[in-house]
Amino acid sequence: MSTARNEEFDVAVVGGGPAGSTLASLVAMRGHRVLLLEKETFPRYQIGESLLPSTIHGVCHLLGVDDEIAEAGFLRKRGGTFRWGANPTPWNFAFSVSPKVAGPTSFAYQVERSKFDKILLDNSARKGVDVRQNRTVTDVLESEDGRVRGLRYTDPDGTEHEVSARYVVDASGNTSRIHKRVGGSRKYSDFFRSLALFGYFENGKRLPAPNSGNILCVAFSHGWFWYIPLSDKLTSVGAVVRREDAAKIQGDPEAAMRNLIGECPLIGEYLDGATRVTTGQYGQLRVRKDYSYHQTNFWRPGMVLVGDAACFVDPVFSSGVHLATYSALLAARSINSVLDGSVGEQRAFDEFEGRYRREYGVFYEFLTSFYDMHIDENSYFWSAKKVTKSSNTELESFVELVAGMSSAEFDLTDTESGVLRLKQRSAEFADAVDTLVEAREENMAPLFRSSVVRQAMQEGSQVQTRAQLGDEAGEITPVFDGGLVATPDGMSWCEPDPGR
Ligand code: FAD
Repeated sequence: MSTARNEEFDVAVVGGGPAGSTLASLVAMRGHRVLLLEKETFPRYQIGESLLPSTIHGVCHLLGVDDEIAEAGFLRKRGGTFRWGANPTPWNFAFSVSPKVAGPTSFAYQVERSKFDKILLDNSARKGVDVRQNRTVTDVLESEDGRVRGLRYTDPDGTEHEVSARYVVDASGNTSRIHKRVGGSRKYSDFFRSLALFGYFENGKRLPAPNSGNILCVAFSHGWFWYIPLSDKLTSVGAVVRREDAAKIQGDPEAAMRNLIGECPLIGEYLDGATRVTTGQYGQLRVRKDYSYHQTNFWRPGMVLVGDAACFVDPVFSSGVHLATYSALLAARSINSVLDGSVGEQRAFDEFEGRYRREYGVFYEFLTSFYDMHIDENSYFWSAKKVTKSSNTELESFVELVAGMSSAEFDLTDTESGVLRLKQRSAEFADAVDTLVEAREENMAPLFRSSVVRQAMQEGSQVQTRAQLGDEAGEITPVFDGGLVATPDGMSWCEPDPGR
């Protein structure tokens, strides 16, 4: 095998999924030289089709692809429909503060990942990233002082290449072969040791309007099903079972899927008359297991992990692509700040790691609580109602807290009053959460006792506000005492203004 000449970049990104393409674009947009290596040729298959509003209206807006995504024909997702908890009747949540008044950003999309990921990757190339597909990264290179200084990859004719870069970003997903080089170890969750069996069906039923684009999640005795409409015709259907029940998805996958559907009457009813797709990218039944984990280190000098290479937690609340793109935004800010010399490396990456772990922790904690909700969802609505001091129904309060906050509910084209209302809304929410956390009621759901949850919800709302409003977003306070804040354009870190 021959080794080709050594090229030099500021940043070399491994993997062209949402984490890799987002990071690469945000760094290239600051004028840095970025190489992205992807082992497959896009479009390629990936699971993870149900998105959250903050990805679309926050990160995709920063990337400048929100219009393209809006025109791609993806189904609009207003929220989720759950047959979960003690109540046998399915209940809905919507990404809007009030189900009656849907704001311009109170929705997300159900996406065919092959199309969505290609839009983001093509955008990277347009933003100046040197995108090379069909290239497999095999290792990282270290300098004598222990810093990562580049990587090695193989091209389709077997030639090995070495690349020097000030940062190597591992965005190569759950199958990453280089994540270990960041140090520490990958810890698998004992709580979420599940397996998923999934495939695609045509002509399944749809929820009644206006919820026909919702994700439908249905609990049954051995786990739960997702039912995600991808177009008028196509539906993604997956069963998640506990590890103790792994035998249920072993053996013939066709028979296993049939049996699991048979155990879940609501999914059986929705698939009555539907046919399973058996050709093309959706033609096979696939299995994923042990997919909830986190790496104990997220970065070391010269190397950083983002997206599934760093961590992932159970898919029930569609957090995967959100965590992938959010972590990419945080890491891009750190890299941009270090490369332009405005913030030291340790400080910049402490900010990245602190915020990323906190966001992951929030979803982890929330999902742990949500699984307990198998017992009774009403206690959660009750807690949420206290947080928001809302006079809405308990269900609406729950929605407002859990889903609505990632979504800015205001007419942003209505410049001044829109900006004002958006700021007021953020402040009201922050106050409401503070009040709840201070109250420490005995029967408060564990989710809301955590200051981590409070901070993350405030941050989620800030990311989106900042993406939509830029400089207009006004003061942004640090998440951590003595920590950094995002620059007005959202692309790097800076010290908070002491005068504010
Ligand atoms: P990926 O999307 O995996 O991209 C990594 C890329 O790196 C790939 O294109 C790969 O080809 C490339 N690569 C790998 N190794 C190399 C190498 N050595 N060299 C070069 N390139 C390489 N998320 C949601 O948001 N919504 C959902 O509904 C949802 N459902 C899910 C259901 C299940 C059962 C599971 C397991 C996950 C689900 N997810 C969901 C999570 C979602 O799939 C991931 O979180 C998301 O794809 C992570 O994006 P990423 O960019 O980090 O990684």
